[in-house]
Amino acid sequence: MSILVAGGAGYIGAHVVRLLLERGDEVVVVDDLSYGSPSRVKGADVVELDVASGRAVKVLTDLMESRGVSAVIHFAARKQVGESVARPAWYYQQNVGGLANMMLAMERARVDQMIFSSSAAVYGMPPVDVVNEDVECHPINPYGETKLIGEWMMADSERAWGLRWAGLRYFNVAGAGWDDLGDMATLNLIPMVMERLAKGEAPKIFGTDYPTPDGTCVRDYIHVRDLATAHIAALDYLASGRTMAEHVFNVGTGQGASVREVVSKVIAATGLDVAPEELDRRAGDPPQLIGDATRIGKVLGWRAEHDLDDIVTSSYTSWQADPARPHFA
Ligand code: NAD
Repeated sequence: MSILVAGGAGYIGAHVVRLLLERGDEVVVVDDLSYGSPSRVKGADVVELDVASGRAVKVLTDLMESRGVSAVIHFAARKQVGESVARPAWYYQQNVGGLANMMLAMERARVDQMIFSSSAAVYGMPPVDVVNEDVECHPINPYGETKLIGEWMMADSERAWGLRWAGLRYFNVAGAGWDDLGDMATLNLIPMVMERLAKGEAPKIFGTDYPTPDGTCVRDYIHVRDLATAHIAALDYLASGRTMAEHVFNVGTGQGASVREVVSKVIAATGLDVAPEELDRRAGDPPQLIGDATRIGKVLGWRAEHDLDDIVTSSYTSWQADPARPHFA
């Protein structure tokens, strides 16, 4: 029996692959290597494939049958909000088309367990500060839409042919579980701040007049290693054959941290003495977005174990360990 991890060579996927390998599971990674790298998943077989390509259903079906795949974890997706606004059809082709191919292959190969990377982006601009899974989803960009459609596709497949699934709605993922598995992209707050500091520039804070305690936006930061253990908890729950009454789960901490607080901690971790640059608000940023993690705690018995200090420290040490990053002296 093996676990197929699509997009497993990327930032989050490689953490889950490492935890699976550490406990002795067999893992097949399918990745087009557009962002991920095989060096992140040593010990797993890596099959290079664009899951949204025309040949993907056949390749995936054959792979599932020949490798005795029992479950799929689907990370493979494009994840840049701005790019999704500029290239919506490509985002739909990649994220929705790729998922559809995966599910066609699963149906053919009779693989009936699936964990899907969803996102807090499905909520859009929610009317509450702490969001639970019953809040209505109104994504505000194509990226968030592709994630919500993914959840619908799985719910429909459950009704049609008995798919057993969980959709994990990640909040702000950061940190590194191992120094060689840091975030390779510079899209989220902590890598953006690190990059500016490493280049000798002041970090930027967008908006200091929000209705929050220090005027800057508040977000729920989840350590990538905690996020990885949430996937293992969901996988084991599905494998146990227990009925899944709820399918979508927030993966957050239930706690918020402000942009100003995060920026200060990153500056402190680097040992520099720099004042951040304060700029106007950006469009589309809700003042506060925190994930209520009650459901995942009750159903899957999972909770976050790492705090913001662990996130910032591990971000810094993995940054310094990455030869592709500009380093701090
Ligand atoms: P990532 O870009 O590091 O990893 C995605 C991996 O999928 C990469 O290795 C990439 O090469 C691969 N991939 C992309 N499109 C593919 C395709 N068509 N066929 C095959 N492989 C493909 O991103 P990540 O941060 O690890 O994100 C993983 C998942 O989690 C994504 O689905 C993303 O939307 C979701 N997510 C991420 C965050 C975050 O903050 N990082 C937040 C919410 C949700």
